Amino acid sequence: MGFTSHMQAALSEARAAAARGEVPVGAAVVAPSGRVVARAGNRTRELCDPTAHAEILALRAACAAAGSERLPGHALYVTLEPCAMCAAAIAAARIERLVFGASDPKSGGVLHGARVFTHPQAHHAPEVLDGIGADEAQQLLRAFFAARRAP
Ligand SMILES: [Zn+2]
Repeated sequence: MGFTSHMQAALSEARAAAARGEVPVGAAVVAPSGRVVARAGNRTRELCDPTAHAEILALRAACAAAGSERLPGHALYVTLEPCAMCAAAIAAARIERLVFGASDPKSGGVLHGARVFTHPQAHHAPEVLDGIGADEAQQLLRAFFAARRAP
């Protein structure tokens, strides 16, 4: 199972989020064995919860399944660059590798803005791979926001 196949799990969660009327971002957590142990899409509207980003929901589910607040050796795949909140949660969970798709100059907190993992306060920085499945992730977002702007 390569980067692309795990990103497909995240992308399918992003598509499902769009179908629910949520901003199409999806995430998947992969165990050291290579198994996808949690996957989630944005549910901020459905749950009336500004913290219900795909990454947070996937981390919560993976931690609950592992019975631990930390996920050493795990990878998190997400279709969009995580925001500062999610990046902080990824660091707290001790995720070993973060793989994301589209970069997000507006709200991202990894390559942009707070740059959480290179901040002096970062206790843990995962290996970061970006641009995996970026075109498809970007297309989903573009289509979603174009449809919302239409009369
Ligand atoms: Zn976030």
